[in-house]
Amino acid sequence: MKINLTLSPIENWIEGLNTPLIIGGPCSAESEEQVLETARQIKANTNIQVLRAGIWKPRTRPGAFEGIGVVGLKWLEKAKKETGLLTAVEVANAEHVELALKFNVDILWVGARTTVNPFSVQEVADALKGHDVPVLVKNPINPDIQLWIGALERINQAGITKLGAIHRGFSAKSGSQYRNDPTWEIAIELKRLIPNLPMVCDPSHIAGNRALIEPISQKAFDLQMDGVMIESHIDPDNALSDAKQQITPKTLAGILDRLIIREPNS
Ligand code: PEP
Ligand code: MN
Repeated sequence: MKINLTLSPIENWIEGLNTPLIIGGPCSAESEEQVLETARQIKANTNIQVLRAGIWKPRTRPGAFEGIGVVGLKWLEKAKKETGLLTAVEVANAEHVELALKFNVDILWVGARTTVNPFSVQEVADALKGHDVPVLVKNPINPDIQLWIGALERINQAGITKLGAIHRGFSAKSGSQYRNDPTWEIAIELKRLIPNLPMVCDPSHIAGNRALIEPISQKAFDLQMDGVMIESHIDPDNALSDAKQQITPKTLAGILDRLIIREPNS
C-alpha cells in the first residue's frame, strides 16, 4: 500500500537549488569565526549549496555542549550573506521554528530524537503552518518506520509540501562498526511506500567516524538517494560535538569528487 503525500521535487524548493542535494557544515555552530570560515572553505572547495549547523543540540546526556543558541542564527545569516550559501538548522520545538524563520534559515530539519515523539513533531508541524519552508525529517533513533512516516504525515498535513527524509541510521548494538546502524532496508521501504519523497543520507551520523563517510555516501547514491548531508568543520579534532565524524571542507571536497552519483531512475 502506498502512502499519499503532497510533495514537490527538490528543484522546486528554492530557486537555483540543484540535485543531488548536498548539505555540508558543522555539527554545531560554535563561534562566529568557525561558522564563517567553514562556510568560506565549503564555498571555495565544493559545489555545495547548503550550509548546515546545529544551533540547539539534543545531547543524549547532560553536561555536553548543548548548542550556542540564537546568536548562532546571526552567524549563519552572516555566512549566507557573505558566501551565498543557503542555510539549514535543526528544529525541535515551536520556538526553534519561529527563531529559525525570523533569521531567514532556508531549510529546517527535524532531528532523530524529535521524530520519535509525536507531541514534539506535532508542535513543530503546528508552528510551520502558513510557511513554505523546505523541511527534512530524520528517521527516529529506533528502527520504527511508522514513526518516520507519522512525522512526515504530520508535517505534510501542516501544509509543508517541500518535504524530504534524512536517513541517519538507527541506534546500533555495541561493537558495531557503525555509530548508528544503516539498516538500509528501512530507507528503501520508505522510498517504496512514498516514491516521490526526496531522501537524503546522513553518512556522518551513521558512521560516527571519518573513515566510513565515503563508502556510506557511495552506497546512498547507489541506492539512488537524492543527496547527502555531511558534517564538516575547520578543525574537526577540536569540534565541540561529534568530533570523530567531522571532516575538513577540503576532505569533504575530495570525497564529493570521488563519489559516483547516479541520476535517480537511471
Ligand atoms: C545532528 O545532525 O547533528 C544531529 C544531532 O543528528 P541526529 O538527530 O541524526 O542525531
Ligand atoms: Mn552531529
